[in-house]
Amino acid sequence: MIRHPNKEIAAAVAEAVAAGWRVEKCPPRAHCWAVLYCPAGERGACKFSVYGTPRVPENEARKIRRALRLCPHTPPADTSGGASGVPVLG
Ligand SMILES: [Zn+2]
Repeated sequence: MIRHPNKEIAAAVAEAVAAGWRVEKCPPRAHCWAVLYCPAGERGACKFSVYGTPRVPENEARKIRRALRLCPHTPPADTSGGASGVPVLG
């Protein structure tokens, strides 16, 4: 299991994995750290490139969570405590 050096991002990636997303490590020389693929599989899967050293890790983690939320292929994990349909803008 690969783990992102930043704990905010590692936590967001762990949420994605828990939701069924796949993590594929980028080649050593790539700018990205890994690419996340949603559970849709090969065809039409959502993907998200995670940077290894983003300027603002919290934003990167937030973008990962947003990608999870927006993905139509990810089954809703937990409905408690979430404001459904109402985007919370920072
Ligand atoms: Zn998807």
